[in-house]
Amino acid sequence: MRDPEEFNDWYVEIVEKAGLADKRYPIKGMNVWTGYGWKAMRLIDSFIREEFDGTQHQEVCFPLLIPETEFKKEEEHIKGFGSEVYWVTHAGENELDVRLLLRPTSETAMYPIFSLWVRSHADLPLKTYQIVNVFRYETKQTRAFIRMREIHFFESHTCHADFEDAEKQISENLEIMERLAKRLCLPYVMCKRPDWDKFAGAFYTIGFDSLMPTGRTLQMGSIHQYKENFSRPYEIKYEDENGEHQYVHQTTFGMSERILGALVSIHADEKGIILPPDIAPIQVIIVPIYSKEDKDTVNLCCDDLDSKFKEAGIRTHIDDRDLRPGNKFYDWELKGVPLRIEIGSRDIEKDMITAARRDTSERSQLKNNVAVDEVRKLLDNIHKDLHQKVNEEMGKNIHAIDKLSEVKDGINSIFWCGDEECGHQIEDTTGMALLGEPVDKNPSEDNCVVCGKSTDKIIYIARTY
Ligand code: ZN
Repeated sequence: MRDPEEFNDWYVEIVEKAGLADKRYPIKGMNVWTGYGWKAMRLIDSFIREEFDGTQHQEVCFPLLIPETEFKKEEEHIKGFGSEVYWVTHAGENELDVRLLLRPTSETAMYPIFSLWVRSHADLPLKTYQIVNVFRYETKQTRAFIRMREIHFFESHTCHADFEDAEKQISENLEIMERLAKRLCLPYVMCKRPDWDKFAGAFYTIGFDSLMPTGRTLQMGSIHQYKENFSRPYEIKYEDENGEHQYVHQTTFGMSERILGALVSIHADEKGIILPPDIAPIQVIIVPIYSKEDKDTVNLCCDDLDSKFKEAGIRTHIDDRDLRPGNKFYDWELKGVPLRIEIGSRDIEKDMITAARRDTSERSQLKNNVAVDEVRKLLDNIHKDLHQKVNEEMGKNIHAIDKLSEVKDGINSIFWCGDEECGHQIEDTTGMALLGEPVDKNPSEDNCVVCGKSTDKIIYIARTY
C-alpha cells in the first residue's frame, strides 16, 4: 500500500501533468476541466447515458437555483446539507424576498414539479435522470475529481406506485452499476450503509466504494430508497385503480466525477496513468520515426493509417511535433494512452507497423493491411487484462478477520450484531469507518466481534476518503 501523503503528492502532480484539470482557477475547489480530462469525463457520461436511456429513463435538466421555501420542506435533508449550501441572496443591490440556493443535489428542485407531473397510476413509474453540476461547500482539503465544491454529477430520480416497484428499480440500478463498472474497468464493493450514515432523508442507502492504492476506500456513487419520505412533504400523489390517492415511493442513484478520480488512481504505474481503452480520449497514438530523407514517405503512411483507424471508430492521434521519439513516448505514457504505434522506413519496407502496449510494455509487429483488426484485438485485450488485474488486486485486499486487533490495510470483513453501540465501538477501536453490509455476501453465521452475540450480519470496515 502506498503512503497516503506520498500518494496525494503524486496524484496532484499527475492530474496536472496529464492535462486532466487545471486547479489554478481563483476559487478553491472549483477546477477548470481541460480538453483531455473533459473528453474522458464525457466518454464516461456517454456510457451512463447509454445505460439509463436503455432502461427507459428520460434525460431532463432542471434549473440550478432552488428557492429556500422548497428546500426546507424535508427536515432530515436540510440537516444533512444545510452547512454545505451556497446561497444567492441578492439581485444586483436588492435583497431577494426568498433566498435561492445552488443545488447541492436536486431532490428539492425536482419534487415540487414531480407533484404536477404525477397524477394517476398511468403516469408511473416516472424515471428521470440528469447530468449537471452541483455545489457543496466542502470544508476538508479539496482535491481534483475527489473532493470538489463544484461537482460534475449524475443523478437519477424515479417515482413508483409502491415499495416493491421501487425495490425493483434498485435491483435494476445494481445491474446498471455492474455493467458500467465492467466497461470502465472499475473494481468496487457495494454495501448497505449503517442507519446513522445513510443519505439525508433516505430510508436506506447502498454505497459503491472502490479501493485506492493507499488502502483507503473512495465512495463513487450511491443508491437510495426513499419510500415516502420525500413524497409526503412534496405531495407527490397519484390516483390508484380504485380512485384513492396514494403517495409515490421514490429512489435515486447518484454518481460523480469521482469515478474519473478513482480510475486515474487505480490504473497507474511509475510512468504515469493507464487509461482503460473505453475512456481514453486517444486510444492509439501514432509516432512517426523518420530521418530527413524519408520524412514524407513516413508521414504519408501515418496519415493513411490514421484515416483507416478513424473510419473504424478508433480514437487516434498522430504526434508530429518536432521532438525526439523518446520524448513523445514519455509524454503519451504519462497521459495513459493505451496503445502506441511506431512507423519508420524499415517498417514500411516490410509492410509492417510496431505496436507497444501501455499496460504491459509488450511490443509486437502487425501487418499493415490488417492493422485495424489487430489494433481492435489489442485494445480488447488491454481492457480485459486491466479489468482482471484491478479486480484481483481488490479481492486480495478484502480480509476476513475475527478480532478487531487484526485489522489490516484495505477492507476488513467482520461479524457484527447490527447494534449501533457495537458499531461505534468498532469504529472507535479501529479508527476505521463502517462501509456497511455487503449486498452480495454469502449467508453464514458467527459471533459479533464486540458483544459476542450470534449473528448472520457481516460488515465491511475501512479507512475512507
Ligand atoms: Zn454486538
